[in-house]
Amino acid sequence: MPSEDSSGSAAAPADGLRATGRAGDPVSRRAAAIEAILLDVDGVLTDGTFEPGDEDAGIPERKRFHSRDGLGLVMAKKSGLRLGFVTGRRSGAVRGRAAELSLDYLREGCFDKGPAFDEACVTFGLLPEQVAFVGDDVQDLPALRKAGFAAAPADAHPAVLECVHFVADAPGGRGAVRQVIERILEARGLLDAALYRFWGQ
Ligand SMILES: [Mg+2]
Repeated sequence: MPSEDSSGSAAAPADGLRATGRAGDPVSRRAAAIEAILLDVDGVLTDGTFEPGDEDAGIPERKRFHSRDGLGLVMAKKSGLRLGFVTGRRSGAVRGRAAELSLDYLREGCFDKGPAFDEACVTFGLLPEQVAFVGDDVQDLPALRKAGFAAAPADAHPAVLECVHFVADAPGGRGAVRQVIERILEARGLLDAALYRFWGQ
């Protein structure tokens, strides 16, 4: 079973690392090295449900995003992290969200996420251990296994929960991404600034 911490749970990853605290533990050391975060969309930034559209007919696919995840992504950007979406579907809603958040990397129609992870690392000029991946289903496993910090929402597939370093308490589309981002910012010593200093307080 994962060991608990206050903003999420650290699963037992393939290399046997476990979270033991907030500073200096293996999961925090992994999180502290992160310079960029790649995210799957469906089931991570959404609850996995969507209303299909028909782009040829001008009918957009409809997805629902969570505002706290959105603010978390803004916090990550303001903190100097680079962000990207790697998604199996093609959706104007995702492209719009990516543009709104000024993302640094976007791959749509991508079911082979391992090569996309490698491509993003090259694009960012970063090593795999400097890049996090957040995924919820088995097609994310190749990227999660490469990532320096692999994370999942609470309702991810069991095979995903088995291989990641951090499991959010929240499910996909309901704040899981915010928890992952805050875990990384905390490990990098940037969380207080992100929470309290960006907003004129
Ligand atoms: Mg997914």
